[in-house]
Amino acid sequence: MSRGRRRGGRDPYTCPNCGTKVKEPERTWTLVSPMPDRLGRITMTIMAAFRCPSCGKRWNAAIQKMKVGGEESGEKGKREKREGQVIEIDLSELDDVEPL
Ligand SMILES: [Zn+2]
Repeated sequence: MSRGRRRGGRDPYTCPNCGTKVKEPERTWTLVSPMPDRLGRITMTIMAAFRCPSCGKRWNAAIQKMKVGGEESGEKGKREKREGQVIEIDLSELDDVEPL
């Protein structure tokens, strides 16, 4: 599902000042959104603090987002009990069927 690179779209690992690619953030932490979405899930955002090794610029960027929870509370007591249909096949009868 990649749609090619957007021009001007910022890579969190790239220094906004000089464009140097940073391998690893100095530290990371997690932000949890206070409001669940309409499915009851909570968005967690992993933030990272970067420091450019070549120009010393510091910046923070979100490096990952994920949704958690919601599925457990999705139970609405909608339990349909389906009665299984039992089909009995008498194997001895099959032997009497003439092949076409
Ligand atoms: Zn830089």
